[in-house]
Amino acid sequence: MISGRKAVSSHHRIVIKIGSALLVDRRSGLKSAWLEAICADIAALRAKGTDVLVVSSGAIALGRTVLDLPPGALKLEASQAAAAVGQIALARAWAESLSRQDIVAGQILLTLGDTEERRRYLNARATINQLLKIGAVPIINENDTVATSEIRYGDNDRLAARVATMAGADLLILLSDIDGLYTAPPHLDPQAKFLNEIAAITPEIEAMAGGAASELSRGGMRTKIDAGKIATAAGCAMIIASGKVDHPLRAIETGARSSWFAPSASPVTARKTWIAGQLQASGELYVDAGAQKALGAGKSLLPAGVRKVLGHFHRGDTVAIIGIDGREVARGLASYDAEEARQIAGRRSGEIEALLGYAGRAAMVHRDDMVVSGAVHAGQEHEDREEDAAHA
Ligand code: GLU
Repeated sequence: MISGRKAVSSHHRIVIKIGSALLVDRRSGLKSAWLEAICADIAALRAKGTDVLVVSSGAIALGRTVLDLPPGALKLEASQAAAAVGQIALARAWAESLSRQDIVAGQILLTLGDTEERRRYLNARATINQLLKIGAVPIINENDTVATSEIRYGDNDRLAARVATMAGADLLILLSDIDGLYTAPPHLDPQAKFLNEIAAITPEIEAMAGGAASELSRGGMRTKIDAGKIATAAGCAMIIASGKVDHPLRAIETGARSSWFAPSASPVTARKTWIAGQLQASGELYVDAGAQKALGAGKSLLPAGVRKVLGHFHRGDTVAIIGIDGREVARGLASYDAEEARQIAGRRSGEIEALLGYAGRAAMVHRDDMVVSGAVHAGQEHEDREEDAAHA
């Protein structure tokens, strides 16, 4: 296989996601020596001209040790309080360790809406860019003190992927206690083989990740593969590597085993990156074979090709487009509310006015508002006015 894998330090902008267990020991608290070592790795990367952003977990875990909470699942208020206590300690530890490398840290706490709502997304992105411009290292986490179970990322793998696409990073590194992707979960299957390079995240690759992570186990391979889909579609490579060594970034550089996911060769434009990475679709449009083919050829989704409409959504909300085999084939912004979509599904565009009482858009999802999974076509799109407004 011809590999496009490059040295970590030859990337322009890297997001490093660090799992809680690497930073926090249940009994002794923060693993300061490990933190010192990774800060030295970060300094070495920056000395070579690479921008670094850190997505650091550990707020809840650290808060638990500071508050001496017993092991076991925490109630929502308890985990929010633990996060409040832990986050302040976590941020301080990062700021102090980085300052010993003459690096300034800047804390960013994100909630789901900051990446899912376009205007807030553009705002958060501007802050991240400004921090990098002034030479600071953003230390990012979910704002767990206000996140509730319905309104949260829940895992920092996908959060890190959203940050990577938001920051225009070309590499995302997920550091945890697993060194990469295996053909099956290695603790369940001794025959499982390690995969060094993954050219594309196919349904077979997804199946290797095992079932969905449970409510309690955040992260796991499932969310790492989800993160890979978000990152690679935006042209950002991803590495899953073990963080259970001192100097884990240096270890990757010097050949420690890790799984590398190739970036998509035809990354989608900024706006489409945002659409593709939307974590929750509000509805589903089931399409027929003809429409599915047309989408693959870069066409818009017309009402005629829609067989069924599920969910409650408004015009402009994200909907998943489901193909004939029941798999998601594309994702896009609906041109119609769900109720209207139901009325015009299966009908010709010329009938829209008679059915709805006004002449709406001919497409149910316009090609400019859509990202086709897998074979993404890099269509030219017009300048994004919202984007300009946010920078004004
Ligand atoms: N945001 C959580 C924390 O800092 C961690 C989420 C995760 O481990 O993925 O405690």
